[in-house]
Amino acid sequence: MLTIGLLLVGVLFAANVYWYLYNKQKFEKRTRHLLSSQLDYKSIINPISHATILFNDQGIITYLNNSAMKFFGYRPEELIGQSMTLLTTKEFPYNYQTSRSDTLHTGNKKFLTQTTEILSRHKNGQLIPVLFSISAVKYQDEVSFIAIFVDLSEIKCKEHKLQQQKAFIERLAQLRTTTLEKENNHLRRLSEIDVLTTIANRRTYEHRLAQEISTAKRTKQPLAMMMIDIDYFKDYNDHYGHGAGDQALKSIAMLIKNTLPRKTDLAARIGGEEFAVLMPATNSEGAYRVAEHIRFNVEELAIAHHFSKVHTVMTLSIGITELQGDALNAVDLFNEADSALYDAKHKGRNQCVIYKKLNTYSYAI
Ligand code: GH3
Ligand code: MG
Ligand code: MG
Repeated sequence: MLTIGLLLVGVLFAANVYWYLYNKQKFEKRTRHLLSSQLDYKSIINPISHATILFNDQGIITYLNNSAMKFFGYRPEELIGQSMTLLTTKEFPYNYQTSRSDTLHTGNKKFLTQTTEILSRHKNGQLIPVLFSISAVKYQDEVSFIAIFVDLSEIKCKEHKLQQQKAFIERLAQLRTTTLEKENNHLRRLSEIDVLTTIANRRTYEHRLAQEISTAKRTKQPLAMMMIDIDYFKDYNDHYGHGAGDQALKSIAMLIKNTLPRKTDLAARIGGEEFAVLMPATNSEGAYRVAEHIRFNVEELAIAHHFSKVHTVMTLSIGITELQGDALNAVDLFNEADSALYDAKHKGRNQCVIYKKLNTYSYAI
């Protein structure tokens, strides 16, 4: 009985010793695997120029390369054993354990994340943009997780500078366009006005004459024209000086313009002391009444002119005509108004004359 008992104890002891030795061997084998896999990983990870972190299926950091030390500002002993969440602003709710067994069964390497842009956190709290990815790597019978952080701060900085430059160039271009538009408008306005008197110039008059002729033909309306000339203006210049002559031209130009009743009427300086007036949808009689207003108002201005042979103040002579329908054309309109003006001069100046086909007549003043 004692012998059987001793035999049983011996067998149990042997079994225990065997079980202990078996487990020890298994543990040592796994440790060797782990150590050798870590050693292998280190040799792979260390030369990588981007921050690279190894961590286990608990999300606990087990190793970091030199680039990671520099990038995050931690010494290895400060990071190893810490959670991966310390290094990012984003939570990564992956089930690393499932991923581990999955990787063990299905393959050597598995990406857990798409390469994505996130913000990583430096030891000093600074947030740094990175391209980030995690992959699970099977080595022998173990699985490790590798996170790689590619620094984007320089690219982002360049991108930002480029965007700033682009915005600056766009603002500059916009400013130039606006300035050019303003300058163009200014130049166009300058090209349309007479510099001395600031009313329309001959170019504008000719342009408008063509427009008004076609409008009058289309609308079957008459188009009236006045040709205005200052009387004895040469004598005025000779005695009062060119400056005084300019001043008188300005005053008379403004007066003509301001006496016109409609916005569609146009007053233009077409020569030295000659003005033309276009009056759409107006006949000779209507134009004559306006011409008389102009002539009267100039007299009222009372610009002293003691060297005029017709008055003691500056006066105007005005020729008037109208054309309508098929007869309407620029040359005849001009010639007729000019002819009526010649008549006004011939008849003694300071008067308005309407052109008549065969002979002209004047209204008594
Ligand atoms: P009439 O009554 O027949 O029209 O005689 P007039 O002296 O007015 O006409 P004439 O054609 O002999 O002289 C026109 C003068 O207008 C000559 C010139 O000195 C003057 N004149 C032309 N343009 C200007 C100008 O821009 N400024 C000044 N101050 N005078 C000018
Ligand atoms: Mg003249
Ligand atoms: Mg004159």
